[in-house]
Amino acid sequence: MEYNASVSNDSFRHECMGKLCAQIMEDTRLEDRVIRAAKMAGAVQRTKMMDYTVKTHVKYLPMQVIRDKYQDREKHLGYCKHCPRYGKKWSCPPLSIDEEAFLGQYAWVYLVCSKIELDSELIKQKDTPEKIKAMGWEIMSAVKLDVDAKLRQLEDKLPGSVSLSATACNLCEECTRKDGGICRQPDKLRYAIDAFGFTIVELTKDLFNIDILWSSDHLPEYYTLVHGFLTREEVPESLWQGIAR
Ligand code: SF4
Repeated sequence: MEYNASVSNDSFRHECMGKLCAQIMEDTRLEDRVIRAAKMAGAVQRTKMMDYTVKTHVKYLPMQVIRDKYQDREKHLGYCKHCPRYGKKWSCPPLSIDEEAFLGQYAWVYLVCSKIELDSELIKQKDTPEKIKAMGWEIMSAVKLDVDAKLRQLEDKLPGSVSLSATACNLCEECTRKDGGICRQPDKLRYAIDAFGFTIVELTKDLFNIDILWSSDHLPEYYTLVHGFLTREEVPESLWQGIAR
């Protein structure tokens, strides 16, 4: 885990963000179903780890640096407007909080990047669009839930910190926002990291040297999930044991 002081000024990768939105739009309901099933069945423990390997790395930047270099709310949220979650989940844009006041509470942004490397046999076996999609969501959901849980434990050790999830909130079967209700579990809701307009594709490339891959006619060699962790103080390295490896 290291503080990454060298960041580039790469231009934004519109094409990649377009693909990301297209993938999310493809079947957001499937993701919700898979995550709920995973929670009910304890899939984090159940998932066959021989099918994939997760390597998680943590780097961090001052909030001001990340906002200057990697936040472009207008451009990024333009993509979000094409996502079916837009305005339908309290974790997603447009956020119902004062974003400036929220982010302004924190001095540091930790990026928790999980690279999920898939076994080549698994990639061969999943040879139809249905199998590819279902397997992709199952694996990503299991890893997301695992990291979500670990970051919540870390929050408990660091009062005043808060985690940001890699994707939308999936705590309830149906989010109340669709029908104009209030969030059922506001204490448990964690905002999606990209809801603030952070440019995850660039961050992942610049900080972790990872290009984000997507499923096409086969499973990708690896998936990438990026969570956030916002703090007022730097986090002692020992506290990342069990998360970064
Ligand atoms: S906790 Fe439930 S109501 Fe609140 S954002 Fe998550 S899914 Fe929606």
